[in-house]
Amino acid sequence: MKKLALHWQILLGMALGVVFGLLMSTFDGGREIIQDWIKPFGNIFINSLKLIAVPLILASLIKGVSDLKDISKLSKMGGRTIGIYIITTVVAVSIGLLVVNTIKPGNSISEETRLELVSSYEAEAGSKIAAAEKQKESGPLQALEDLVPSNIFRAASDNGNMLQVIFFAIFFGIGLILIPEEKAKPVKDFFDGFNEVILKLIDIIMLAAPYGVFALLAALIVESPSVDLFKALGWYGLCVILGLGLMIFVYVMLVYVFTKTSPKTFFDGIAPAQLLAFSTSSSAATLPVTMERVEEHLGVEEEVTSFVLPIGATINMDGTSLYQAVAAVFIAQAFGMDLSFSVQLGIIATATLASIGSAAVPGAGMVMLVIVLAQAGIPEAGLALIFAIDRPLDMCRTAVNVTGDASVSMIVAKSIGKLGVPKVKNWNDHIKK
Ligand code: ASP
Repeated sequence: MKKLALHWQILLGMALGVVFGLLMSTFDGGREIIQDWIKPFGNIFINSLKLIAVPLILASLIKGVSDLKDISKLSKMGGRTIGIYIITTVVAVSIGLLVVNTIKPGNSISEETRLELVSSYEAEAGSKIAAAEKQKESGPLQALEDLVPSNIFRAASDNGNMLQVIFFAIFFGIGLILIPEEKAKPVKDFFDGFNEVILKLIDIIMLAAPYGVFALLAALIVESPSVDLFKALGWYGLCVILGLGLMIFVYVMLVYVFTKTSPKTFFDGIAPAQLLAFSTSSSAATLPVTMERVEEHLGVEEEVTSFVLPIGATINMDGTSLYQAVAAVFIAQAFGMDLSFSVQLGIIATATLASIGSAAVPGAGMVMLVIVLAQAGIPEAGLALIFAIDRPLDMCRTAVNVTGDASVSMIVAKSIGKLGVPKVKNWNDHIKK
């Protein structure tokens, strides 16, 4: 029998997880059974993905940069990557603002619902606001300062320091370019082999993906808030999802126009990464799979994926910036505030920066939203309004974040002649290899 394609297997796992979660929530003790016996498997799955993120970045970036053979190529690629990342983020925020200003979801929230939501989620919102306070205290150049680690082992021991690991790997790769070839060769060969091993590990972990997402979604279902809350926030959620859908359309068009890759090929290639991003709500945890898919299934050469994708996972979050724009204006609307055009322009700037500063982990976009709200003069307490449905929206925006990184890597690769023919067409063949 022909095996199902990986993305169908993952989708099936997700669907069964939802059904199982719903079933278990109908009887007493079902929730605890899922939390004690099912959720840990989801966590193990996420941990195994995170486990290989730092070694993967190190090995593939060092090899990728040293393969460039000349530093000017690196700066060309770097310039394009950052430029396109910023442009797509600004487009995303603008789409978010357009949708939220047209649909005006905040106007449909009654005074009663607003008070109820604010009082029920005050405490949770408070903890996000406190986390954002720490960020706000730092000086304007803090982000630049944080880029350079003082100790590579300390940087590599924390998945939150991805940019520092990236900095070290690029620096090391540059060193390799500059030393004589015969000295560089054994080091390069080592990282080359190391990288192959990590890519194989990703294949192995992906065998467990359908089960991992089953566990993750079953746990999310039993932990989700009541349906009534979803209804109250329905229009807002719809605006975010509509905006994200439009953004996906923008990517598909960009990829088609610049690389002539058909939407079907693009989705077939990237779907497993999108589904994992959706299930884990973390671009960082999804990164190994994004890299593998883009390289082996979409034909982007390793020099590009190893550079563009880890940087993208940390700084390019178009889904997050779009959501921040919609959420900020929604909260303002719910509080009866009218935001002027210039304030909305300010939101474009702050949401772009805030998404760059958001960590690639669940819920990070909401912490940085506090900064967008503060800049626009919108009450931070409004965070409590949107708390209830943040997780499902986080899942959707993370899938968009990952799609954005993949699209940009294809466009950058094409622009420097590094987009080839995919190595693997069918994942099932690939794993048997
Ligand atoms: N969870 C998102 C990500 O990892 C960030 C966020 O918007 O909260 O990309």
